[in-house]
Amino acid sequence: MSFQNPVFIPGPTNIPESLRRACDMPTIDHRSPLFGEILHPARAGVQKVLKSESAEIFVFPSTGTGGWETALTNTLSPGDTVLAARNGMFSHRWIDMCQRHGLTVEIVETPWGEGLPADRYADILKRDTNRTIKAVLATHNETATGVRSDIAAVRRALDDAGHPALLFVDGVSSIASMDFRFDEWGVDIAVTGSQKGFMLPPGLAIVGFSEKAMTATRTATLPRTFFDVHDMAKGYANNAYPYTPAVGLLNGLNQACAMLLAEGLDNVFARHHRIAEGVRAAVAAWGLELCAVSPDVHSDTVSAIRTPEGFNANDIVAHAAQTYGVAFGVGLGEVAGKVFRIGHLGSLTDVMILSGIATAEMCMADLGLDIELGSGVAAAQDHYRANPAAAHKAAA
Ligand SMILES: *Cc1c(COP(=O)(O)O)cnc(C)c1O
Repeated sequence: MSFQNPVFIPGPTNIPESLRRACDMPTIDHRSPLFGEILHPARAGVQKVLKSESAEIFVFPSTGTGGWETALTNTLSPGDTVLAARNGMFSHRWIDMCQRHGLTVEIVETPWGEGLPADRYADILKRDTNRTIKAVLATHNETATGVRSDIAAVRRALDDAGHPALLFVDGVSSIASMDFRFDEWGVDIAVTGSQKGFMLPPGLAIVGFSEKAMTATRTATLPRTFFDVHDMAKGYANNAYPYTPAVGLLNGLNQACAMLLAEGLDNVFARHHRIAEGVRAAVAAWGLELCAVSPDVHSDTVSAIRTPEGFNANDIVAHAAQTYGVAFGVGLGEVAGKVFRIGHLGSLTDVMILSGIATAEMCMADLGLDIELGSGVAAAQDHYRANPAAAHKAAA
């Protein structure tokens, strides 16, 4: 594997040089006002990236998975029921975590490649007149299938039923890359990590809690220690953590937020959309199809590309690594071997993604697929030339 080439996996993503430097810092006292000068602006930055005025932001030394656990254990009690759709590997894993914590999960089985069925959520919530369901789980962007769901529609399903359940959103592969509106969508807990849209190394779970979610923490009885938000809040009040924080990563997070906000969130989202559209143009030129069933669910952060029947899509990923030193994502779970994934989120330019598209073409041709070299590259080039980037500001 080459350290020179960018990665095209949907996280961890490429790290801009300035953020690598921000994470690399000398030791400071992590219980001091100096630490507070990193911690508090980082949390304020995350709040802005979530488009929230009032969400309480907590950052744990962990990953997105720890963010899921933070959401569940701080707000729910053993035996509580949650509603969740399973439409890919990440929604599946969150459901599995709920079950391991002794929660009852009302699972809406959904074909992989489709978005969350908000209409089915609506029916179930309307029928739940006893208000048994305490939380609704929604994976905003299913990274396994490259499918983006409509969170506003899930909020409407709750509101139309007049249902008081909390709304938890996994935004691990959408936040800071695709439009996310914590306040407007009435999100109660948003979950993400450091290594995707924030362009940092892995190591942080980043969560936002609404006031309603904070209220739920007072009666929730699932066991929690490391991920207890009240212990964390007490630490924050003293410029500290209940334990040792990942100071360098937090410094990186502060810088990452500043970088995203300086570019402008809408520009960040538009950049991801442009780049994604180029990838999709390439896929169409190859005569291949996305796992995502329709354009309204196309993800702007990752494309899962179906390969022909009888071909093992994992071979593309292995061959790219061995022969060209380039990383693509394998298929997960139900679509293992059937799709390979091109991650296109975080710090990425037209030039970088064109090299990824070119490499995918070489791999497919090497492995005997009927792909004309240059066809996908040309389609993407046409798209990028017709839709020039707003500015050539390399994220560096
Ligand atoms: C990456 C990812 C996760 C898991 O995050 P980790 O940081 O690997 O724990 C969860 N959900 C989605 C949608 C993801 O893309």
